[in-house]
Amino acid sequence: MNSPSHLALVPFVSVHNMMRLVHRIGVDRVLRDLADAIEADFRRWPSFDKTPRIASHSAVGVIELMPTSDGALYGFKYVNGHPKNMKDGLQTVTAFGLLADVATGYPVLLSEMTILTALRTAATSAMAARALAPKGAQVMALIGNGAQAEFQALGFKAICGITEVRLYDIDPVATVKCARNLAASGLRVVPCKSAEEAILGAQIITTVTADKQYATILTDNMVGAGVHINAVGGDCPGKTELHADILRRSQIFVEYPPQTRVEGEIQQLAPDHPVTELWQVLAGTAPGRTDPRQITLFDSVGFAIEDFSALRYVHEQLDGTGLAQMLDMIADPDDPRDLYGMLLRAA
Ligand code: NAD
Repeated sequence: MNSPSHLALVPFVSVHNMMRLVHRIGVDRVLRDLADAIEADFRRWPSFDKTPRIASHSAVGVIELMPTSDGALYGFKYVNGHPKNMKDGLQTVTAFGLLADVATGYPVLLSEMTILTALRTAATSAMAARALAPKGAQVMALIGNGAQAEFQALGFKAICGITEVRLYDIDPVATVKCARNLAASGLRVVPCKSAEEAILGAQIITTVTADKQYATILTDNMVGAGVHINAVGGDCPGKTELHADILRRSQIFVEYPPQTRVEGEIQQLAPDHPVTELWQVLAGTAPGRTDPRQITLFDSVGFAIEDFSALRYVHEQLDGTGLAQMLDMIADPDDPRDLYGMLLRAA
């Protein structure tokens, strides 16, 4: 990586190149690969540094940093969540991230992560459902048809084998967009006029709406025995999607309890309400679904290890593709103590 002068160039994956990489590999395969990469890292959960993400809240949104390390690599993601952005023509969620070598502290990858977050979130949701949803589930309700929605549908098709997705959004324009984008996906796509209609016959219910408030996308009477709920949209203090009574009837699975207790659906429950850590189910040390009539709930908020796995996957896939631009972002003088001399010589 070092050149003779002062350069330690860092590969950068732009949005354009991320899209080319995903098309080159294939969306379905990327989703499956990411689910496998994330599951492999969840299984070695104790080997990671973990901290709840560091959030900076404002009246309209949140900006967060999500760091972790496995002792060999270090990663972090910068991500925002601004539900009102969409009305201004901006993304609700944007992100970029960095992977670094723990041995030197030098970055080895800088990448866009808006697309990568949508992919890793869908892969994580489907990975959880692969372990928790009722066997043979084929129909998913998808409530909230914004930026994340198609990724979720495709993730559940590629990883869990669903064949039908039933769409609902308070804004019918979003549902039309989502149905159009999924038309050639091989999924049977059923646009619906209400959340009640969307969940008819669904064994899996995904909620992925954005609203900076305690919203009630699902009420208790809407949720029958045996379903799996994938609650993705509630991921901040004061921002939830499910009525608390649903939580009380469910077996709840979470990523990292210290973060989810603050950000997830379970912020509505007592701080000691029992939850199961998803990694333990994947590692075989805690039970997943134990009864076909049980309601399982993945209270997803998004955890740093998922981004770490996704960045490492992208880093591995880049070799020989020409899809990275080399960035001059680390000052690296030939004589490490002569940083000022390097500046002088540049005059
Ligand atoms: P988006 O703004 O593009 O889409 C959200 C959609 O929800 C919009 O189409 C909106 O009309 C719809 N909506 C709002 N209230 C609704 C309601 N009551 N009923 C039905 N639909 C409703 O946002 P996005 O990028 O798709 O993200 C959705 C949510 O997922 C955000 O809250 C985001 O923070 C969260 N998210 C979570 C994770 C995670 O890992 N858990 C990752 C990414 C995003």
